[in-house]
Amino acid sequence: MIRKFLVGTALAAAVFTAPFVAADKDAPHNKKAFEIYKTAVEMRTAKGHNMVLKLANYLAAEFEEGGFDKADIHVAEVSDNAVLIVRYKGDGSSGKRPISISAHMDVVDALPKDWERSPFKLIEENGYYFGRGTVDDKAGMTAVAANFLRLKKEGWVPSRDLIIAFSGDEETDMLSTRALVKEFRELTDSEFVLNADAGGGRIPEDGGTPASFGLQAAEKTYVDFELTVTNPGGHSSRPREDNAIYELATALKNIQAFKFPVMATELTRAYFKGTGPNTPGDLGKAMSKFAEDPKDAWAIGVLRGDASTVGTTGTTCVATMLRGGHAPNAMPQSATANVNCRIFPGTGVEYTLNTLKEIVANDEVKFTTITDPTETDASPLRDDVLAAVRKAVDTRYPGLELIPAMSSGGTDGMHFRAAGIPSYGVNGIFMKSSDSFSHGLNERLPVESFYSNIEHWYVLLKEIAG
Ligand SMILES: [Zn+2]
Repeated sequence: MIRKFLVGTALAAAVFTAPFVAADKDAPHNKKAFEIYKTAVEMRTAKGHNMVLKLANYLAAEFEEGGFDKADIHVAEVSDNAVLIVRYKGDGSSGKRPISISAHMDVVDALPKDWERSPFKLIEENGYYFGRGTVDDKAGMTAVAANFLRLKKEGWVPSRDLIIAFSGDEETDMLSTRALVKEFRELTDSEFVLNADAGGGRIPEDGGTPASFGLQAAEKTYVDFELTVTNPGGHSSRPREDNAIYELATALKNIQAFKFPVMATELTRAYFKGTGPNTPGDLGKAMSKFAEDPKDAWAIGVLRGDASTVGTTGTTCVATMLRGGHAPNAMPQSATANVNCRIFPGTGVEYTLNTLKEIVANDEVKFTTITDPTETDASPLRDDVLAAVRKAVDTRYPGLELIPAMSSGGTDGMHFRAAGIPSYGVNGIFMKSSDSFSHGLNERLPVESFYSNIEHWYVLLKEIAG
């Protein structure tokens, strides 16, 4: 998923400069974490490469060697990928139900010839780890796995069961995620989920302390619609008025010109209220203004003109792919475009589709819903989760504001939410916007962020199940 935060409720206090001490890379638990990270990054777990099962088996062997009971480790194949489920048995002293911890083992593919360095070699350079998945999501996955091993080695016994629930195709079909909450529900059933594929904060470009920590508690609904126009075609020397490409182009121009209604919830307003004062320039002013009055035309104009905030103000739909025609000298017999929508909670896929049909206003344009959308409500905030995240964030940035947020990209969390298990994105990666290359070229993670996230999860797990 892409870390982009939208909604939230401001929750905390003044920010103090953190007395952050760099992690000891040579500590045994950090060495183990690095070994897992390197091994995972160097497996090309992208769709079509059939490496997810290998990664799941590798991790399973690590858990077995680390003292986990074989009966508590499950690897299962799901279509051409796999899931990994590991139960860290508690002593039951809290009387509470288990907590699942999710992350994904797959990555978006990377073409080696496009990269400056090999994407499937973990390369350390200039204070960064480069490689596909160094951020999304092998950093989160590693932090969780390494801390299960570390805590076990230390003899720690949680007061309730903790369950690793790693998926294998989060970036594509999410069949494994669905399997985690359906076929394997007995193994993963829990009170709530902590997701290591969302959360964290942005470090300002000139360094210093982040404005806030975004705790993912909601997601927009992801859906792809295909728009197709078909036509009998014919010889291009005898053009007619009707033309599949022109008709599709007109439909797309209508979509381009259309703006979905401005929407605001208590959470988005609180998010803007918390983020505005820490955001420089007009953008920050517009956030504060919108928080006060979501009808303010100037604020709406600024927020909608900025790619980082437009998604927070309502549903967005955008053309992303195109194909059409079959020969340079023939009238096109068909033309198809993909339109990708990120639907604001409470709006609905049906309403969005009908709106698009209305603005296209041409029955020749056929709409097909390509993805199987999962619509979910925000997860209710929990004091225990907030308190544990508070403690983990304080180790790095004491007092940093926690802002419950909504992702515009989809994560495994939505399938847990849809299955009635609230999910919270609480990964502890802090980095600059300019370092954010998830899904793109030359993905990288500051070395220091890798180790501080290991520490983040150590504190978090001990706190939530101590
Ligand atoms: Zn991800």
